[in-house]
Amino acid sequence: MLKGKVAIVTGSTSGIGLGIAKELGRLGADLVLNGFGDAGEIETIRSDIESERGVRVVYDGADMSKGQSVRGLVAATIETFGRLDILVNNAGIQFTAPVEEFPPAKWNAILDINLSAAFHAVAAALPQMKKQRWGRIVNIASTHGLVASTHKAAYVAAKHGLVGLTKVVGLETAGSGVTCNAVCPGWVRTPLVEKQISDIAAQKHKSQKEAAAEILAEKQPSQEFVSPAQLGGTVAFLCSAAADQITGTAISVDGGWTAQ
Ligand code: NAD
Repeated sequence: MLKGKVAIVTGSTSGIGLGIAKELGRLGADLVLNGFGDAGEIETIRSDIESERGVRVVYDGADMSKGQSVRGLVAATIETFGRLDILVNNAGIQFTAPVEEFPPAKWNAILDINLSAAFHAVAAALPQMKKQRWGRIVNIASTHGLVASTHKAAYVAAKHGLVGLTKVVGLETAGSGVTCNAVCPGWVRTPLVEKQISDIAAQKHKSQKEAAAEILAEKQPSQEFVSPAQLGGTVAFLCSAAADQITGTAISVDGGWTAQ
């Protein structure tokens, strides 16, 4: 389905981004992986996807907290492959604290990586996508792009901003062959959430298993975690012809969280 197409997935050395990259690769897209981690482990991820999926996979370690690096990632991809078809803005970080204790440096870092990086990437990618008259931009937001929780001021602000940016880009590209949508996952058991589970377990003297059950019980009616592979499937659907008229919207994959 995606043979001949080129996809960037930011933050794809781990968790959701890796699940999305694997699915786009399975469907035939050449890939640019991005994110931090151990160089040897990243090379194993890169070469495994390349050999298992039979696609070309390159790694670019651009730092998504720096606008110029984000724009550089897009430029380098177009330089290497001669095109850019799919942009998945996925890199993200989390930090929790009451708003009056929230460290300003953490606020800035979350806004930079979870929101501004998408602005820079979209701005840099659109001229090429418009020239090709086809493009898919998928912003990985969150249920926290639609509703709030306590102690997540920066994350909720950034994710609501990302849903807003998605609407504007959807409008500005309407009819051009480019679509822009947000995906809003509920709890997904990745390193980002594992840390929150550990914090709750430590605070409440619970086991990891009990703390995981507690966060699901609090928010996610299905009582099951969403998987990175399921989110890969959602992004693949947005890249399919069936989704040609879906733009400027947010799709929840949250086990019923935001239906409440
Ligand atoms: P994760 O920690 O497993 O992965 C985050 C990825 O982003 C990693 O590859 C990391 O190296 C990369 N990254 C972090 N800072 C970076 C930077 N400055 N430059 C480049 N790469 C950077 O987390 P995840 O749970 O897979 O989260 C992925 C996205 O999904 C995030 O935007 C997150 O907000 C969103 N999300 C996660 C959940 C969840 O429950 N896990 C729910 C909703 C939304």
